Amino acid sequence: MNGRRDYYEILGVSRNASQDEIKRAYRQLARKYHPDVSTEPDAEARFKEINEAYQVLSDPDKRAAYDRFGTVGPPGAGFDFGFRDPFEIFEEVFGDLGFGFRTTTRRRGPRRGADLRYDLRLKFEEAVFGCQKEIEVARMETCPECRGSGAAPGTTPVRCGECGGTGQVRQVQRTIFGSFVNVTTCPVCGGLGEVIHTPCSQCRGQGKVYAYRKLTVNIPAGVDTGTQIRLAGEGEPGERGGPPGNLYVVLEVEPHPYFRRHGDDLLVELAINVAQAALGARVTVPTLEGEEQIDIPPGTQTGAILRLRGRGVPHLRREGRGDLLILTRVEVPTKLTPQQRELFQKLAATLGGESVVEVRQPTFLERLREALGL
Ligand SMILES: [Zn+2]
Ligand SMILES: [Zn+2]
Repeated sequence: MNGRRDYYEILGVSRNASQDEIKRAYRQLARKYHPDVSTEPDAEARFKEINEAYQVLSDPDKRAAYDRFGTVGPPGAGFDFGFRDPFEIFEEVFGDLGFGFRTTTRRRGPRRGADLRYDLRLKFEEAVFGCQKEIEVARMETCPECRGSGAAPGTTPVRCGECGGTGQVRQVQRTIFGSFVNVTTCPVCGGLGEVIHTPCSQCRGQGKVYAYRKLTVNIPAGVDTGTQIRLAGEGEPGERGGPPGNLYVVLEVEPHPYFRRHGDDLLVELAINVAQAALGARVTVPTLEGEEQIDIPPGTQTGAILRLRGRGVPHLRREGRGDLLILTRVEVPTKLTPQQRELFQKLAATLGGESVVEVRQPTFLERLREALGL
């Protein structure tokens, strides 16, 4: 988004602040900087900033992502959380507590268009190596006939006679307690201050039409399920000259038959037989680029992890790649030929028959966590 100031700093709370503390800090600041009441010169900008910080820190998932990456998205990267209109959140938090703000009459100024979300499923390889996808989005678009004015070509909206263009009408109400002035939204223009005498035939005066639009999305290498790609300005059109919203393409990556992703590391399970485990062996493993030979050292146990550096998934929008982790599993044969049986019996005689109780070894999952540095 804009300048990358620390969200905790913006709200003036510590990094381990509770949700209550965050909400309290937000309320205080929002009251101070709400553009309707604030006299601070940069109130509007501050108010947006405060809201952006609150939106992230009040949502446990977004906050966790922010804590982990230190930012909402990599600098300059086109992915972001969908941000909502600060005035909407403000209303959500304050509700109708009656702070005397204009929370019921919508602002008549320009309004940003709505953000859209598009869910896109990718094949494993498409996500790993990046690709280009064409999507078709159904959305409202500015009417091409009237260019969004809602008035038939050759005509223009005119100032509302009922309210004189203010969008509000005043009615004096006399009661036994005295006279009250009631200010309400103009019923003729609906608060717009303008009326259209000859509506555009294509959009029936709405200024917007429903349309299907084909868009090309560039998927960078290294995306994963949950990655969002922002197509700036491809959301719905704004109102009264406001900018359009954004389109967020939310990715879901199909699983691979044998590769599993752990961030940018890839995991693959490799079955080896007892002899290979005991004696060591050269075996073939799959990598993203095809098959490769690796050496299993003698004495390899089930759960041992061999690491091929730099053979994992490319890092998203930066240099380098993760690793390929090969998890070994020693397979004990369940069916023996008479000859194998004889050989195992000979082997058994040399190994002795006593069972040994050992100090507990780390489990497979514990080893995996260790290897991944978790
Ligand atoms: Zn139109
Ligand atoms: Zn009016």
